[in-house]
Amino acid sequence: MNPFFKKLLAPRHIEYLSVDGNLIILETSRLVRLFADRPEEVYPGKDVRAGFPELIGSEEVLRAVISGEKASFELKGIARFAEENKPFYIDLYISHHQNEVTLEPLLLILFEDVTENMVLKQALVQRANEASLLVSALASSQDYINKIITSMADALLVTTSSGQIKTINLAAQNLFGYSETELLGKPISLLIKSHQFIEEIGQQLPCLNGSELLRNREVICSKKNGEKFLVDFSCSCIQNDLVENRDFVYIGRDITERKRAEAETAKALEKQKELNQMRANFISMTSHEFRTPLTIILTSVELLENFYETTEKHQLKVKQYFKMIENAIRQMTDMLDEVLLLSKAEAGRLTFNPSLLNVKKFCEEIVGEMQFSKSKKHSLNFSCPPETIFGWLDEKLVRQIVVNLLSNAIKYSPQGGVVRFDLHKEEDQVIFEIEDQGIGILDEDQERLFESFYRGQNVEHIAGTGLGLSIVKSSVDLHGGEITMRSEVGKGTIFKVILPLRRNTAQQ
Ligand code: ADP
Repeated sequence: MNPFFKKLLAPRHIEYLSVDGNLIILETSRLVRLFADRPEEVYPGKDVRAGFPELIGSEEVLRAVISGEKASFELKGIARFAEENKPFYIDLYISHHQNEVTLEPLLLILFEDVTENMVLKQALVQRANEASLLVSALASSQDYINKIITSMADALLVTTSSGQIKTINLAAQNLFGYSETELLGKPISLLIKSHQFIEEIGQQLPCLNGSELLRNREVICSKKNGEKFLVDFSCSCIQNDLVENRDFVYIGRDITERKRAEAETAKALEKQKELNQMRANFISMTSHEFRTPLTIILTSVELLENFYETTEKHQLKVKQYFKMIENAIRQMTDMLDEVLLLSKAEAGRLTFNPSLLNVKKFCEEIVGEMQFSKSKKHSLNFSCPPETIFGWLDEKLVRQIVVNLLSNAIKYSPQGGVVRFDLHKEEDQVIFEIEDQGIGILDEDQERLFESFYRGQNVEHIAGTGLGLSIVKSSVDLHGGEITMRSEVGKGTIFKVILPLRRNTAQQ
């Protein structure tokens, strides 16, 4: 339908007037003056432009409408101000019509009060503006929240109350090794391997209010590659806006590394405690070890006093007591030497002074000394190749190695035991192999024997300080060599030491 007629038919406040070709008012409706800018000018015989100045400048168009060249003309949203300066709005519809009698072409001007429409439109525009402002504010705050979630270092997961993953941030993707699409819609049990924890979450979270959290739950999780690791989760429950339902929020942090560090610290503490205990044992043991030779010295000296006026007959006895004193003093000196050496080694002050050593000759001498001093209850069998072996070794340290290993082999063997000492050369290395048929070393003790003060659990009453092997190890290390051991409880032990014979640059 023609919009003009549409307007006509609608039940609205419409007034009119008709004007001739010179725009002179011929006829007006009763209330048309209400819509005029200057109502006093709106009377038949007056120029219509005086009362409605908005028509000034539209004469061309109006002439075209009156001549029938143009069907109609509209002016919309003209503002007028009534009492109290309240605005109202009118639309003008101008069309051609004819004097029924004279057939003179005329213009019919309709005025419609569109205030209600305009106010409505303005309110709508304002609402639309407000809504678009709100939408952009929402979008930017959503964007802001997304940025926070994305840049969070902690893993964030949101699931439905039934455990289906709804949201996952970048940190969580990196932590678990899955992409976002691989996880959305999947059950949380894909990542969290503790069913007990998932059940606990399902039961406890809905009972918490918004600000409450289940904190610091350590849970075993699984990465995409199957690797298991520990995650510390804090969980809360949030109201879902769309439905009467709640979502679960999980914030997690990989604590495998932290746990490992804690375990290491605990282990180090435990070791420190053990070391303290071993030091305490050592002190009580050394005081005992010192007391025995001192008692021997004291008794021997007392006895010697009795033989002051020594006779031929007592000569042998006197000799025996002197020997006992000598042995006791040597025993104490050895022990003090060991302690001194170890303290030097621990302080990193054990020096390495290599010189060209005839290793074979040197070992033969040591074996000779030991054969002389050891009790006759063991046999010490030394074997070596016919040719001489020369090497850049530290004489003092090699003595520590050989003497300690040989005396241990003797000490931890039963009476009548055979100790085998084999010396040979392989390329640029000299190899010392010392084997006994003694008590052997328990598996659980083997890896700790080189620690200072550590003694095997099966030593029973056999005296010792737990320092010898620690000194041996430091001496071997200073040479850039290697020490290994094989042992079977009740059958015997073999220690093998390999030392480089050539002077290398690290030894200068
Ligand atoms: P210790 O003074 O106790 O002999 P070491 O450091 O020389 O100290 O040796 C440490 C521990 O290693 C010994 O207490 C003993 O348990 C074990 N051990 C060393 N050598 C032997 C061996 N040949 N046979 C059996 N046990 C041995």
